[in-house]
Amino acid sequence: MSTNYFKNYPNTEGFFEEYGGSFIPPNLQAEMEKITDAYYSISKSHNFISELRSIRKHYQGRPTPVYYCNRLSTKYGGRVYLKREDLNHTGAHKLNHCMGEALLAKYLGKKKLIAETGAGQHGVALATAAAYFGLECEIHMGEVDIIKEHPNVVRMQILGAKVIPVSFGLKTLKEAVDSAFNAYMQDFDNSIYCIGSVVGPHPFPMMVRDFQRVVGIEAKEQFAEMTGELPDNVVACVGGGSNSIGIFSAFLQDEECKLFGVEPAGRSLNLGDHAATMSFGTPGMIHGFKCYLLQDEKGEPSPVYSVASGLDYPGVGPEHSMLKDWKRVSYVTATDDETIDAFYELSRMEGIIPALESAHAVAWALKLAKENPRQSILVNLSGRGDKDVDFVVETYGLPK
Ligand SMILES: *Cc1c(COP(=O)(O)O)cnc(C)c1O
Repeated sequence: MSTNYFKNYPNTEGFFEEYGGSFIPPNLQAEMEKITDAYYSISKSHNFISELRSIRKHYQGRPTPVYYCNRLSTKYGGRVYLKREDLNHTGAHKLNHCMGEALLAKYLGKKKLIAETGAGQHGVALATAAAYFGLECEIHMGEVDIIKEHPNVVRMQILGAKVIPVSFGLKTLKEAVDSAFNAYMQDFDNSIYCIGSVVGPHPFPMMVRDFQRVVGIEAKEQFAEMTGELPDNVVACVGGGSNSIGIFSAFLQDEECKLFGVEPAGRSLNLGDHAATMSFGTPGMIHGFKCYLLQDEKGEPSPVYSVASGLDYPGVGPEHSMLKDWKRVSYVTATDDETIDAFYELSRMEGIIPALESAHAVAWALKLAKENPRQSILVNLSGRGDKDVDFVVETYGLPK
């Protein structure tokens, strides 16, 4: 793999090979080009870089640690390590790109941040960034998720954001994106759309990837310090793909290092019962970009489901779509039941309650550990599970 990887992908039109790009109305395209140009110059400026670095250290609490799971490794075999993004401020990796996007908004002179949210983690992270910079914030959220993720709705409101309920379609993440895009189209001058993952039209898959690279850069160095080696396996859950691309990006050139993206196999493999886009999707178009997509015969995104609200998106980042075709990353799945088991297992064996999204990655890591007792496994623990505890106990009960 070329050492110019980050220069070449995406290309200047935002393509990762055939995926990505920008398939949007001309007025929105003009706005995206402004953001792209500004990003290319601002992100290289000394002021921007040093302000972001200072925010990461003093406000977010970075670097987050890498932790060796002693009891879990003894029980399952293998050597299991966690990159603790659950300890990033607000409890997930999402603040990494939200602070970057909000800082860019400040340099562009925007007054308002608009976004969608699924599990509420992106909404909370963006509301946090808006409070930090003194910007307005409007978060669109499906009514189903509003009920399921009630604590995050309250957190957004406490942080000063306006939460807009979305009541059409399945009332989850995909509709929230549609609703937020519509609001943004009404108000280009004052506002900026802050996408919550490595999806959407160019330049978002690139910008969000760049802001999340800090996870992989830190983890690689920390892992080397602890072990003197590279990890044999790196594992992360894939919704849109931001936490996974963040950690994978540091290891892409290390061919000996296996990379696993874990998608939700949900409650069954029937269309509508899972969100395993890479495993069962085909190339298609969603929200202005090309990627693997779960779609019906007409090319419309199909309904998706996962026990983890943050993973139920029918598309996936264009860069992941390319890495799948290159066979550089293996995309695998974990079911709801495996995820719930992993959720309790990590909680009881290590005293760390994971987000349901992250528990998908833990479930796969435990399988790998059993099958490969001599290998090391670095898991990106993308978030903490406080938001999920009531839902899990009400739905599944406590384990015996
Ligand atoms: C949103 C979220 C995800 C899924 O998003 P990606 O862009 O795929 O990382 C995963 N884990 C947590 C904790 C999240 O909040």
